[in-house]
Amino acid sequence: MAETNQNLWAPWRMEYIHSLNVDREGGCFLCRYAANPDQDHANRVIWRTAHTLTVFNAFPYNNGHLLIAPLGHHADLEELDDETLTELMRQTRDAQRLLRKTISPQGFNVGLNFGRCAGAGLPGHLHLHIVPRWEGDTNFMAVMGNARVISQSIEALCEQMRTAAAELGLAPVRGSA
Ligand SMILES: [Zn+2]
Repeated sequence: MAETNQNLWAPWRMEYIHSLNVDREGGCFLCRYAANPDQDHANRVIWRTAHTLTVFNAFPYNNGHLLIAPLGHHADLEELDDETLTELMRQTRDAQRLLRKTISPQGFNVGLNFGRCAGAGLPGHLHLHIVPRWEGDTNFMAVMGNARVISQSIEALCEQMRTAAAELGLAPVRGSA
């Protein structure tokens, strides 16, 4: 069936939505999240390390879509020290472990966009996308097109992920409900 061969990975679309979110909030949302660990629960930050955080994408392209970002406002990988670079990759590994444990994806898209021409709606603060994939999930998105339904499932999934993160021994977030 031709439709199942469509590529779900269209980061420019969600980055555009992100840019709307940034404009409305009047600043870099990743810096805001990084500076306010007491708001982690409300901001859907799943866990942190010394130099990075992992957060649910507020406008997911698929169920369980996560963003991993350095705490500092850096546009390019060359601005990061080796410790932060290592943590970004470790977080990627751990995010995949967490997603496998909670929602059993059959595959992942993992990627970075640099510059607006490459689809980055927040070019000043680099962030790595992790999008879980399943066979036929392009059709799933069409079915789940109702924003309210997605939003409710995100809340439930956030709780599931926090529990699983603790079980995996990942650093707990400091915020509370
Ligand atoms: Zn920032």
